[in-house]
Amino acid sequence: MKRIIVAIDGYSSCGKSTLAKAMAKALHYAYLDSGAMYRAVTLYFLDHHLDYNDPAVVEAALPNIQIHFERIDGQNRTFMNGKDIEHDIREMRVSEHVSPVSTISAVRRAMVQQQKMMGKRRGIVADGRDIGTVVFPDAELKIFLTADLDVRTSRRHLELAAKGIDADWHEVQRNLEERDRIDSTRADSPLTKADDAIVIDNTLLSEEQQLEQSLKLARERMPN
Ligand code: C5P
Repeated sequence: MKRIIVAIDGYSSCGKSTLAKAMAKALHYAYLDSGAMYRAVTLYFLDHHLDYNDPAVVEAALPNIQIHFERIDGQNRTFMNGKDIEHDIREMRVSEHVSPVSTISAVRRAMVQQQKMMGKRRGIVADGRDIGTVVFPDAELKIFLTADLDVRTSRRHLELAAKGIDADWHEVQRNLEERDRIDSTRADSPLTKADDAIVIDNTLLSEEQQLEQSLKLARERMPN
C-alpha cells in the first residue's frame, strides 16, 4: 500500500496531537509533533536568557539547537541537544512565549527545513499550524481540526494537570486565545485551512470517533 502524508492543522488544544498519535500508531507511521520543535526553540531562548527580538541573536543561536524525537516506552519524547525536554516544553512559561517566537521567519525556515526532511520517505502523520499549507502542501490527506473554546481549555487544563503542571483554568484559556490570535495573524505562514483540507469539528466527538473518521479518510487515499 502506498505510504501517504497526513497533515493535521488547527487551533491550540483541539486534539491535534491526540489524533495524530493515534493515527500514526494505527497506520504504523512516524509522528511529527511540529509544535514541540517551536517549543524547544523557545525553551532554548528562555533558558539562555536570549532576546529573541534581536535578529542577530536568533541567527547566532539557531545552529546551536539540535532537536530530535525518540519513542521511549511507547511515548514520544522531544530531545534538545541530547537532553529530554518533553516535560519542560509544556510549561506555561514556554506557552507564553512560543507564539511570538513562532512568528520569526528565521526560526520557521530552520524548523520547516527539518520537518520536510522528516517527511521525505512519507509514512508520516504531522500536526501543527502550517503543515498542510507550507510544510507538506502535497500531503494526500489534510485535516483541519476545530473544537469549542471552553472544551479546548478544559482539555488542555486536564492535560497539564495529568503532567503535574498546576495552571489556572482562565489563565489557560487566555493563553489559548492569545496563541490562536498570534498564530492566525502572523505574516509568515499564518494558521489557515488549506483549500483542500477537510474540516473536522470534534467538540462532540469521542477520541475513537474522530480516529475512525480520519482513518477512513486516510485509507481512501492509499491506492494499492
Ligand atoms: O502544537 P502546540 O500547541 O504545541 O504548538 C505551540 C505553538 O507553536 C503554537 O501556538 C504556534 O505558535 C507554534 N507552531 C507553529 N507552527 C507549527 C506548530 C506550532 O507556529 N507548525
